[in-house]
Amino acid sequence: MCSKEHTIQLINVADNDKFTHSLILVKGVIVNRCDQSILKVKINNSDYPASSTVKFINEKRGQFKLLLKLKSGENNLTLIYCNHELELCLFYEETNHNYTVTPLYIICKGHNGHYQSDTEDNGIENACEKITLGVELVQCLYAEKLSEKGFGRKTFTIGCKCYPFYSSLPLTDSKNMTDQELWTYFANEILGSELFLPEKQKFVGFISSTYYEGISGKDFSYETIKRRTTGHAALGGGGFALFGTGCLYTWPRKLIDIIPAFLNTKLVNRELFMDDSNYRYTYGGCFATTIGSVCHEMGHIFDLGHTKDGLMGSGIDLINRVFTLPTMTDILPDRIVSRTGLKRELMNSKLTTIKRPGEFLRKYHQQKESDVTYFSDNCALTLHLNKWFNSNSTTCDNNCDTKLSFNFVTRFITSTHSFIKLVELRDKGNGMLKMFWSFQDTNTVCFKIVEDIPLDGLTLFVIDSFGNILKQDL
Ligand SMILES: [Zn+2]
Ligand SMILES: [Zn+2]
Repeated sequence: MCSKEHTIQLINVADNDKFTHSLILVKGVIVNRCDQSILKVKINNSDYPASSTVKFINEKRGQFKLLLKLKSGENNLTLIYCNHELELCLFYEETNHNYTVTPLYIICKGHNGHYQSDTEDNGIENACEKITLGVELVQCLYAEKLSEKGFGRKTFTIGCKCYPFYSSLPLTDSKNMTDQELWTYFANEILGSELFLPEKQKFVGFISSTYYEGISGKDFSYETIKRRTTGHAALGGGGFALFGTGCLYTWPRKLIDIIPAFLNTKLVNRELFMDDSNYRYTYGGCFATTIGSVCHEMGHIFDLGHTKDGLMGSGIDLINRVFTLPTMTDILPDRIVSRTGLKRELMNSKLTTIKRPGEFLRKYHQQKESDVTYFSDNCALTLHLNKWFNSNSTTCDNNCDTKLSFNFVTRFITSTHSFIKLVELRDKGNGMLKMFWSFQDTNTVCFKIVEDIPLDGLTLFVIDSFGNILKQDL
């Protein structure tokens, strides 16, 4: 019998915490460990094994992370380590939020719905399960990241599980279309469809027919990979974000497979399958980067612009670190959000170029202490106020009278019946943040942009206390 006194400290959750999303992350530390013991988890919930061993404990610090799926209502969780037990009650309260996100698996006319994969288990049902799980993971990530910024565990609501959407776009046409043309086509088709309520529904679509033609030479740069892939996109804006399924083969289908998928060091056969891993070349790297890309593009559908750092900038590749513990293997080169001009109607689209690997050691020290995944302050504030993140708010519907406006002559932004909470100036070309002013704790109804700031080539973005938005090119 062990004579040590162990304690389990939780980092991001507390007893009786309430969640509005079902897939959750629990982080903690075991203090004073003994040699042989392992952490075990029990949850009175049929969706998860009754007892599970947690393998990913950091040896030095005793840190652990757990991914759990809560059932509706009360969930009793027991963490067991050696002679110590910690009991925890967590609640999942489903929201009946009017504003939802709907995941779709888009199938072009003439395509059988089988995505490109290294296994034959790649049909419609399989794809939809993977996409649903992926979007739930993103939902959990948004909640954790907003919580870390002090806004509570706010996140968007997923309206339903992913299901197939049969597009009228012929497969052969789709192969000759650019990502922006595909976005425009599907956005018109989906947002214009009578099946949906675009003013209260936003969509994330995944194209089933993304096809990587393979590379036989030695040039596996991201640019070449993209050139050899048809039906691919990673674009978000307005009410719609669109993705390819070129790396869906690296995504897990079940909760229990999420952590192994992030940790999967199997090398991608780049001659045959798409590698979108930011030069890690692994299955786990592809999964992390493509989930990161979903986080980023969904940010755009919630009206976020670009920032230098964080999820709306260069920080999308290490999503794995949010859910697993740091390892030396995932230190990455920088990603640069492109400054080249983008088409105006898709000014929020992401086109990234990547610096080749370098400076590994410096980055290692910089990255090892945190999960390096975050929203910058202005982005977090926008999400906090966003209608899609406020299920029981008095916002929008009841506040048709609110009006945000900008006067070009006086340079005053004014608001009637609401308070200005955030003002951003963004580059008109690529949506990159130039400067911002936030008024989190004050009741501001008018704000002047001082004369010495040149406004040419900028876009003004304002959000008020009800989540109303003014977006205007200057
Ligand atoms: Zn012990
Ligand atoms: Zn972007």
